[in-house]
Amino acid sequence: MTLSRRAAIGLGVGAAGAAVVGGGLGRQWWLDREPASPPVTDAEGRVLWRNWSGIASSYPAVRAAPDSEAALAELARATPAPIRPVGAGHSFTSLVPTSGTLLSLDGLHGLAGHDAATHQASVWAGTRLGDLGPALVGIGQEMLSLPDINKQSLGGAIGTGTHGTGVGYQAIHGSVKAFRLVTSQGEVLECSPERNAEVFAAARVGLGAFGIITQVTLQNRALTRVHKRVYVEPLERVAAEWAALSKGHDKVEFFAFPFSGLAAVIVTDQTDAPIRPRGPDQDTDTLLSFKRLRDFLGPLPGLRRRITHALMADLPAEESVDDSWKLLSNERPVRFNEMEFHLPREQQMAALREVMDVIERGHNDVFFPIEIRTIAPDDAWLSPFYGRESGSLAVHAYYKDDYRRLFAAVEPVLRRHGGRPHWGKLHTLKARDLAPLYPRWKDAMEVRRTLDPDGRFLNAHLRELFIDG
Ligand SMILES: Cc1cc2nc3c(=O)[nH]c(=O)nc-3n(C[C@H](O)[C@H](O)[C@H](O)COP(=O)(O)OP(=O)(O)OC[C@H]3O[C@@H](n4cnc5c(N)ncnc54)[C@H](O)[C@@H]3O)c2cc1C
Repeated sequence: MTLSRRAAIGLGVGAAGAAVVGGGLGRQWWLDREPASPPVTDAEGRVLWRNWSGIASSYPAVRAAPDSEAALAELARATPAPIRPVGAGHSFTSLVPTSGTLLSLDGLHGLAGHDAATHQASVWAGTRLGDLGPALVGIGQEMLSLPDINKQSLGGAIGTGTHGTGVGYQAIHGSVKAFRLVTSQGEVLECSPERNAEVFAAARVGLGAFGIITQVTLQNRALTRVHKRVYVEPLERVAAEWAALSKGHDKVEFFAFPFSGLAAVIVTDQTDAPIRPRGPDQDTDTLLSFKRLRDFLGPLPGLRRRITHALMADLPAEESVDDSWKLLSNERPVRFNEMEFHLPREQQMAALREVMDVIERGHNDVFFPIEIRTIAPDDAWLSPFYGRESGSLAVHAYYKDDYRRLFAAVEPVLRRHGGRPHWGKLHTLKARDLAPLYPRWKDAMEVRRTLDPDGRFLNAHLRELFIDG
């Protein structure tokens, strides 16, 4: 009988836990304390807003969700600043918090039009990626690439340089052919390589600091079916073969598991094979089993490594075949905080080895894997992939764990390897650190000042990124 990943790891962890149950339970209680939450309202009765992971929050004076571009333009001109557009609130950095106006794009969603011949579609910016998949099926199209989850809004995904994986695939904003931008004066600009070209280059990855994108024209493609394969291999082998592996398939990524010497590789290729839907989510149970191993065996890394290795090394590969948009993104119900940097591709594996070393030497509380992906270059001025083949490296910390200590140890490694931070994931870089990383930084800042001279779209975090920091 072949045990599923869930059953095999669950059984093993149960046995390991039972073996050290005395000290382990006390430790588990200590680790599982819920972080303190801010009050639901402030002294003036304003209602709390929080991001997905819970670490970014504010009490906006005004909340609005306009259902037309005209209503949004009127708000942009007149509502109290700072005005912060919000999509799904899935960014970890403090891009959205405001004491002024929180402007939800939820009222502007769905398809606005399409061109069957070119496979382009115009989409309202508040559309969630998970809703866009089925909507595009109706017109025979799919997005070229998708991130690990599909809960984000299109505007939010573009605004932070959200990406999937694949050496031949740009981040989502790479598929943007044109967009409509509402400025702080309430003007509506049509932006493309032909019209307002500098705004198109500067504001595409714009962090909601240049204006509000209402509608986006996406370059999609005809629907494809893919074969997805997930398998476990020794990490050193995957790292040694990464250059060939990533070029040998349509889309590849891997998750490197600390304290195991193993990696889970996810390979996706186009196919005509019959549909074989993916089974129930096993990632969540696996992750929670790693947590229990951490809880019980954290202070015993040698034993933790042997047990994890024994449980995972020989697991059978998991295979599925389905429409691409159904297989590329996942459910991630376990909350975490994340740091991700985009490195020159040739630095990626050296950086991974160093980060793994940092974690295994001094951070036995870590149980989330390190995520490794590839992204093709593009020409958006504030894109972390501007002008270079990139390899990303992401570290995660359970939302109840102390992410600061881990990220403070990892960030210098990623910066030393030439990394640019993901705008939506935690980092400590400020304007003076960012300017040298972006060849068109000054031009982008000039466009921003022209569009929003009074800084109506800037909150404290954006001021540090673009002006004061
Ligand atoms: C579980 C999880 C998994 C993730 N996986 C990935 C991944 O695989 N790849 C990846 O790259 N990232 C990933 N992320 C990060 C996420 O994709 C980005 O933070 C993204 O910006 C979130 O989209 P959102 O709609 O929640 O945007 P929000 O967080 O609401 O906003 C992000 C930024 O965009 C701005 N914005 C929103 N809408 C507009 C608009 N219409 N016009 C102008 N500006 C706007 C906001 O003001 C803000 O500055 C993940 C995050 C989580 C929590």
